[in-house]
Amino acid sequence: MDQTLIAGLGNIYTDEVCFCAKVLPTRIANTLKEKEMKKIHKCIPQILKFAISKKGTSANNYVRTDGTRGGMVPYLKVYGREGEKCRRKGCKGIIKKIKVNARGTHFCSVCQK
Ligand SMILES: [Zn+2]
Repeated sequence: MDQTLIAGLGNIYTDEVCFCAKVLPTRIANTLKEKEMKKIHKCIPQILKFAISKKGTSANNYVRTDGTRGGMVPYLKVYGREGEKCRRKGCKGIIKKIKVNARGTHFCSVCQK
């Protein structure tokens, strides 16, 4: 399995892509099925295009100098939403946060497998 696939993506986008593909972020490095890989490949450009259209996520400097929040932050589905309701239609999950390799990762344990 090619770990470089999403290595270039930041934490935020990794979380969002995994949510989009309904895959647990903990599984990325090891046991993805071909069908799931295809979903991830489809989701990556979707998430990136959306991020670019919203001028990125300023989570590093969460609030801009003028006090407004980063462009994509309000649209994030899992990242930074620990304890909040899953935004997938029909899903009643709560977003969880765990640490993987010392990095925080966010996911819905109900709709992501
Ligand atoms: Zn969910």
